[in-house]
Amino acid sequence: MGLQENIDSLGHLINGEIVRNDEFFDVIDPSTGQVGARVPLADVDLLNRAVEAADAALPGWAATPEEERRAAIKKMGATTMEFLGELNELASIEKGNPMGAGEAFVIPGFADHVADSPLPIDVIEENEKRVVRVVRKPIGVIAAISPWNAPILISAEKIFCALAVGNTIVVKPSPFTPLATLKLGLLWKDMLPPGVLNIVAGGDDVGRALVAHPKTRMVSFTGSVAAGKAIAEAAGRQMKNVLCELGGNDAAIVLPDVDVPAVAQEIFNSAFLMGGQVCAAVKRLYVHETIYDDMVSALAGIANATKAAPAAEGGTLVPLVTKPQYERVKELVEDAFANGAKAAAGGNAVTEYGGYFFEPTILTNVAPGMRIVDEEQFGPVLPVMPFSDVQAAVAEANASEYGLCGSVWTNDLDEGARVAAQLECGTAWVNHHADVDPAIPFGGVKDSGIGRSNGQQGLDAYAELQTQIVYATTARK
Ligand code: NAD
Repeated sequence: MGLQENIDSLGHLINGEIVRNDEFFDVIDPSTGQVGARVPLADVDLLNRAVEAADAALPGWAATPEEERRAAIKKMGATTMEFLGELNELASIEKGNPMGAGEAFVIPGFADHVADSPLPIDVIEENEKRVVRVVRKPIGVIAAISPWNAPILISAEKIFCALAVGNTIVVKPSPFTPLATLKLGLLWKDMLPPGVLNIVAGGDDVGRALVAHPKTRMVSFTGSVAAGKAIAEAAGRQMKNVLCELGGNDAAIVLPDVDVPAVAQEIFNSAFLMGGQVCAAVKRLYVHETIYDDMVSALAGIANATKAAPAAEGGTLVPLVTKPQYERVKELVEDAFANGAKAAAGGNAVTEYGGYFFEPTILTNVAPGMRIVDEEQFGPVLPVMPFSDVQAAVAEANASEYGLCGSVWTNDLDEGARVAAQLECGTAWVNHHADVDPAIPFGGVKDSGIGRSNGQQGLDAYAELQTQIVYATTARK
């Protein structure tokens, strides 16, 4: 299939059919700033059709034997890789890099993990008098809303967990990156009964309608803190379950005993992965003063060898995915310079390709109180700060409304574990950062979110826990 045919085959997935309405919107290729594709744009009427279809499919899917549901999920995961080329072609347009669908490589692993995790029954008590157990039941129609940074992985994870428990789902991808997610709908539609999985491409208004619809019983949202708060508030009005995976401002703390070049490379990889557009990227770096200069120059050396440009021009750093995000990164860096920050590497937007590239940037002379330290940059910029007392570094790391992840780097594992345990965040690493694993719970504290994805906790997020108590006799003596 050629690229245009691939694009033209896309549409909303509603009740097992690919639906194309008359309204279209432009998807911008961030490596050029030009329109890369046009796709159908759902309105609230189409969204309502999708929710009705999911609601109608709910009893049948909930009653489908668990093994059949899990087999379908396994097949969906495996199929993703069979169509990697076509998926990648679309994801490359919306993400502006030739491996836009790199996330697809881990989708089969996420599917297999869910498919190989039978829903447990917790037996609390079992004796002659009574049996007490807790079982997992579906919540209902799940409203799933995804961001633009890892659209297909984030949507796939929500879909697998929701369907495994017997829920049906309506997914709304980001309007910046709908292409590869719509393709997943096309690839997966015949593996499920009509209405079990629905995908509608639309803007924030469609997201709001999905959250507010009385027939959606849970909202699974990944995105910004601002939208997460609005969604939690709207969902709360109808007492809906909410899973919110929001932004972060992850701190990494480097103790004085590390091998500086090796740790610099690891931290660079964790901070600049996908151009820094990863919720769990390192976003603030605290380095012990005795190795601070060496660490800054090691990071700057790596940054200077990394080129923000289209791959065809030898680029090794991807662009910002959206124009608003590009403008935001420029604004934060300009604000940092205006307040005395110095660039050890980078510091500028790359304008010659027309897209949203920004140089990999290492900033010094930065401190709490500056926006680049206090806010989530979600781009290829790392502020690096020295510390002399590790407790002061922990206090600064924790002085944030965010609390997604954090890390400590040291060869003294006991000290690393002691310091990491003090970090106020959902995931605390020693000698690692920026990773998701389908078996390991992931989520934030404070403004970084509510609930956990992945692991048993992640599956339970999509389940109503019913306590069943069976007494052995009708009459107690
Ligand atoms: P965003 O909040 O602007 O948009 C995310 C999605 O929400 C989009 O589909 C959008 O259309 C929809 N939306 C926006 N407002 C809405 C509303 N009021 N009601 C319903 N839907 C609404 O976020 P973004 O810019 O796409 O994503 C970047 C953010 O996502 C960053 O802050 C990043 O850290 C975060 N993120 C978090 C995780 C995590 O697991 N914690 C993972 C990836 C991204």
